[in-house]
Amino acid sequence: MTDLKALSQEELDSFAKNAGLPAFRSRQLIHWIYERYALSIDGITEFSKKLREELSARAYISNLTLLDRQTSEDGTQKFLFGLEDSETIESVLIPDDDRLTLCISSQVGCAMGCVFCLTGKLGLKRNLKPHEIIDQVISVNRLILPERITNIVFMGMGEPLANFDHVIEAIVRITNIMKMSPKRITLSTSGIPLKIIELGKKALKVNLAISLNATTDAVRNVIMPINNTYPIRALLDACRKYPLPVNRHITFEYVLLKGTNDSPEDAHRLVRLLKNIPSKINLIPFNAYSGCEYNRPDERTVIQFQDILLDAGMTVLIRKSKGQDILAACGQLKATYKA
Ligand code: SF4
Repeated sequence: MTDLKALSQEELDSFAKNAGLPAFRSRQLIHWIYERYALSIDGITEFSKKLREELSARAYISNLTLLDRQTSEDGTQKFLFGLEDSETIESVLIPDDDRLTLCISSQVGCAMGCVFCLTGKLGLKRNLKPHEIIDQVISVNRLILPERITNIVFMGMGEPLANFDHVIEAIVRITNIMKMSPKRITLSTSGIPLKIIELGKKALKVNLAISLNATTDAVRNVIMPINNTYPIRALLDACRKYPLPVNRHITFEYVLLKGTNDSPEDAHRLVRLLKNIPSKINLIPFNAYSGCEYNRPDERTVIQFQDILLDAGMTVLIRKSKGQDILAACGQLKATYKA
């Protein structure tokens, strides 16, 4: 049985052709899967009953299974989805002014092992397939009708650049089929320099965010083990080579950990490191979770850190943590399901 949602646009064209259908049927299938969020071939009411039966004999439309949906006091929603092999992933919907941003997962678990992140503690189970990435967008769009997701960030579970080909295919379908502007899509990475350069060559024009979180290799090696393979200098060299459209910047995420990376010296070093890179810095005071050895710095330390960056003329925001009460904030996704 062919899963129609798993097919690329070209593959759907071939499927329709092989099934003896005229080309416009492939466009109708795309419309019903990606715009009307059809859950099954039988739900494609534009097709005759006979055609639906014929298609259902050789194909189906897969769907993520919604296992849990929690809403935070601040309106953030966390969705727990089951996959066909019973693995689970999470997606987080963050309302902000006129935007509805969906934070999506690219892998089940993650191999990167960042010490401040619950997903990292799971280890990597597997890569998500392109349609499992896209189906987070389709499923949430269906669940929030008549509203619609306006922005997508690859900041959920997993390192997107470690699942490069599938993430690229997902972005291509989201931009080409679902017609979302690449300006509204941000890919966040812990930093794999060669893949950042490869991403740049794909010319997808998506926004790039780097999870930096330290200003020395000694500290970054400890809190983000990937730094042992790709140190800060190699990572920032790759950032300098990323082809940024005019007036765009790279976002640097910086989780502030008390007594680890939050000193005035760190702030000054950060200014020097990001010199000559069009950047915006998001400071994220750590979202502590039980059993974690790291703590959140106090307000004064966070403001002092921000002021040093502002005085140096940098664009910097302190990111308000959303969805903390439902463990939906940055670094808190672990996709556990208690029935
Ligand atoms: S922060 Fe991102 S890259 Fe690091 S362990 Fe968590 S999910 Fe993986």
